[in-house]
Amino acid sequence: MKALFKHACPNCEGRISDERLLMGVPCKKCLPLDIKELRDLYSKMEPLEFKIKIMEILKNQGNLQKYYDLVKIEKELAEFETLFKKGTGSRLWSAQREWARRVLKGISFAITAPTGIGKTVFGVSMAIYLSTKGKKSYIILPTTVLVKQTLDRIKEFLEKAGIQIKVAGYYARLSKTEREEFKQVIETGDFDILITTSQYLALKFDEISKHKFDFIFVDDVDALLKLSKNIDRVLLLLGFNNEIINLGLKLIKLKKEFLQARASELGKIGYEIEETENTLNSLKEKVKPGILIVSTATGKAKGDRVKLFRELLNFTIGSASEGYRNIQDLYMPREESVEKQVLSLVKKFGTGGLIFVTLEEGIEFAEKIAKFLKENGIKAEAFHASKKSPEIIDQFSNGEIDVLIGVASHYGLLVRG
Ligand SMILES: [Zn+2]
Repeated sequence: MKALFKHACPNCEGRISDERLLMGVPCKKCLPLDIKELRDLYSKMEPLEFKIKIMEILKNQGNLQKYYDLVKIEKELAEFETLFKKGTGSRLWSAQREWARRVLKGISFAITAPTGIGKTVFGVSMAIYLSTKGKKSYIILPTTVLVKQTLDRIKEFLEKAGIQIKVAGYYARLSKTEREEFKQVIETGDFDILITTSQYLALKFDEISKHKFDFIFVDDVDALLKLSKNIDRVLLLLGFNNEIINLGLKLIKLKKEFLQARASELGKIGYEIEETENTLNSLKEKVKPGILIVSTATGKAKGDRVKLFRELLNFTIGSASEGYRNIQDLYMPREESVEKQVLSLVKKFGTGGLIFVTLEEGIEFAEKIAKFLKENGIKAEAFHASKKSPEIIDQFSNGEIDVLIGVASHYGLLVRG
């Protein structure tokens, strides 16, 4: 054991050793098995199977707490992952898996990332997954061309995955009959997934708002925000009401005043902020809103109204420290053979890894590690500018390559892409 972490036990949230934390098992108090026994189990099982086993042990000891939720989410995640693979032919990459985990935990958030990293395919797949659980989703896109494309994509996904759900989409070139059908579907609510442009949302809000949504995915929030009223619309569709939205707006105003207030007024405004927050929180608890994901390429969102996302759903658009990473910043002392050390880490964390070598060590070292891993049965490739074939990324995303090794510079290919 090299370190102890406070409040990090996945079962009791108490203190835990780094060895246990790395394996994702509870602390010694929760789970009295010693580290050797745990390692033995760990090496014999698939990660999820291992977690379920640990949960059973805790349960038998009458000591199952938070670990239950963790395993429940991991089980759902595995289900989602299987569905994603069936429907898209690719496997989730680490950011997508992390987004999925957040949705399954019921957390709303913003994704700030350039196009082409799989935001849309993620949002669509999640909507499909949730529909198999009887939940209603709404996908809001910037253009009708994208609506059409997304409908085609979903159709293909459903065929590949062998799933039947009801998808309703509206785009400019629908025939008259199709339009009538769409109107009917919106009227009756006989759909699992609704897809329209943000313009359509603004235009037909009265009809759409007859329904509540468990999950809303806004692809390109910048288009949505062209009309600031759309923020209210989305919030209402998630289950919030006007009273809550008005309290949220009041809070935004108060916080602004607080920043500009004279010292003598701070106490009064501070008190009012606290009061408003308390009322807002108690109202929010009652409505059980759906989950919202907004994606943005720019990470910029102007205006006061957009802060409603912060007040009502606890996220902001485009803050530099996006909270969607599930990263444990760990470091360990360098051993004699870095290659061997990397190999054992790769084995521990499984497939889908990115490894960075320092700038000083450079491309040659990345190649050296890749070679060593390959010799030891890991499907690894070095990835750098002189070798930037898109095939490598494809092979990585469909699982033909397990691990990519790149150079950690600000402008390095692997860092950015
Ligand atoms: Zn514990």
